[in-house]
Amino acid sequence: MALADADVKWVQEPKLGLFEQLYLPVVFDGLKTTVTHMFSKKVTEQYPEQEPTLPPNYRGVHRLNRDAEDRVKCVACYMCATACPAHCIDIVAAPAPAGWKDREKYPETFVIDELRCIYCGMCEEACPVDAIELTTLYDLTGYSREQLIFDKEKLLSVFDATTQAGTDPVRTQAGRLGPASDAPPVPPAIPGPAGGGSAGAAG
Ligand code: SF4
Ligand code: SF4
Repeated sequence: MALADADVKWVQEPKLGLFEQLYLPVVFDGLKTTVTHMFSKKVTEQYPEQEPTLPPNYRGVHRLNRDAEDRVKCVACYMCATACPAHCIDIVAAPAPAGWKDREKYPETFVIDELRCIYCGMCEEACPVDAIELTTLYDLTGYSREQLIFDKEKLLSVFDATTQAGTDPVRTQAGRLGPASDAPPVPPAIPGPAGGGSAGAAG
């Protein structure tokens, strides 16, 4: 559809003087920016000599949490793997060992490809028992791709290291299920017709 003439705005090409044709104004503008930065507060961090200060909600390397009995807290429900947009979590579930009365399953293997991960935190949000958490470990290095595919033992060792170092305290209490598994709030009762009692009173 053609535009109406009233909607068309014509722009005239500006006439450049000798200064503009020699690029002098933009050169002075650039120099002004450079000089301003020379006297402004420096923000360069001297990493690795100087460790960065990370925000409290920083999302780094994963860990698998242990419960109060030192067992892996995960119940192999696959919620994290289902929520993961990068498809980098691979779990093989197995019946929980005899004596683990509080769960039906546990992860026989649990693998996260840390190179494929986009550190979005969806796995942590999805877990109903707060078994998986992202830590503040950010300097993830390795000599091969295989070294950055973390298995269950490695993920548990991240838990041991971070809790011993005190860098990432466990956010939930042992034994308590996470907020994802809390019962939804009970909606307020809807008043019924006059003389008929409330709708929530049946039963
Ligand atoms: S942080 Fe995001 S991308 Fe990484 S494993 Fe968890 S859900 Fe997947
Ligand atoms: S969501 Fe939690 S409990 Fe379920 S498989 Fe993942 S880490 Fe395990």
